[in-house]
Amino acid sequence: MTFASLGLSDALTRAVAGLGYDEPTPVQRATIPVVLRGGDVWASAKTGSGKTAAFLLPILEALRARPGGSVRPVRAFILVPTRELAAQIVDSIQRYGQHLKKPLKTCLAVGGVSANPQMLALRGGADIVVATPGRALDLVHQNALRLDQVETLVLDEADRLFSLGFADELNSLLALLPTRRQNLLFSATFPPAVRKFAEQLLHEPTRIDVDDGELPSTEFILQRALQVDVPRRTMLLRHLLETHAWSHVLTFVASRYTADHVALKLNRAGIVATSLHGELSQGARTRALADFKAKRVRVLVATDVAARGLDIAQLPAVVNYDLPRSTADYVHRIGRTGRAGDKGVAISFVSAGTEAHFRLIEKRHQLDLPREQVPGFEPTEEVSTTTPPRDPNGGVKGRRKSKKDKLREAAAAAATRPPKQGP
Ligand code: AMP
Repeated sequence: MTFASLGLSDALTRAVAGLGYDEPTPVQRATIPVVLRGGDVWASAKTGSGKTAAFLLPILEALRARPGGSVRPVRAFILVPTRELAAQIVDSIQRYGQHLKKPLKTCLAVGGVSANPQMLALRGGADIVVATPGRALDLVHQNALRLDQVETLVLDEADRLFSLGFADELNSLLALLPTRRQNLLFSATFPPAVRKFAEQLLHEPTRIDVDDGELPSTEFILQRALQVDVPRRTMLLRHLLETHAWSHVLTFVASRYTADHVALKLNRAGIVATSLHGELSQGARTRALADFKAKRVRVLVATDVAARGLDIAQLPAVVNYDLPRSTADYVHRIGRTGRAGDKGVAISFVSAGTEAHFRLIEKRHQLDLPREQVPGFEPTEEVSTTTPPRDPNGGVKGRRKSKKDKLREAAAAAATRPPKQGP
């Protein structure tokens, strides 16, 4: 099957051929004809599946085939959860649309940067707007953005739009759109809120479920679980970086603090690293990502929110320094490597405290990875075989007491026990 046989015209097929796309991916095969017919789409599609081209190519085709007049009302409106994802989509539009006879005007409408340039750019209209919900709504309130002519609405990473708390903004924006329009919804997962929203939003949608929740192209991802004590993880990461020829590595951590801390430690060890998290300024985030993509930075230490949806081609390795809290995020993380046919390795650090949680991740994704130990980094903490009680104070899920903890507790109990009374 070719892109041309899906109904895309020469300008677009030439562009994707130039990008090295030999044939459409499954999500593209399923989605492109439906979108070209004007139908609604409900797609379970994860990052790495080629979902961006699956919705962009037919949208560009439709805009090309029915060009607008000199006034440009917004005809395609794409809502995404993060600024990075929005910027990537705009990039993809430029790449896919490079051979179009009549260039399409695309505007980015995202928060974290001044609204003025976006308002200026929107003067005279735009064919496509790629936005995060909060800024889109601000621009509407400022009369800089009108959505009453939108023909196609895309919600990308809908689950993340909801988990980031954009539900109200989404509903306010929907109320501004014409009732007759095409709706395309892409989401890696469908928790109840997203399912309900999709049911209300979509009109007789075609359901597209090419991966059925399985791991992204696992055949190209070597998944490994390395046992290590928590305090030795940075040393182990350094060791891995020194012993593998990975050109660049994405490392996932649980918090902003850890992201900064690990990046600092690596830099001190002479490994060029930078952090990426939601509390950096937009400028710093863009720079970190650009440096990583250009391979000026070898290690990007990122939190989930910041890294979700990032399109980094040919990433040889992903390291889960901290395990993801949500088992579904495991898929999003490791899907950053082994993309579109490239081989990759995904390494998870597993400690005594996180062993139980990693088993949950394995169960969810039907995995059974051997636990490996790296010489010199053998863990000393022991994994308890009993199910740990839930920590009522909200501590790390599945945290188990180490042998040392237990000895300490026994000693403390003995010290406080009242002396035995004689008969
Ligand atoms: P996405 O799932 O949209 O984030 O896309 C994942 C990666 O696959 C991106 O780097 C795309 O450029 C690339 N890609 C998308 N479609 C194809 C294709 N048909 N063949 C090869 N690579 C593709």
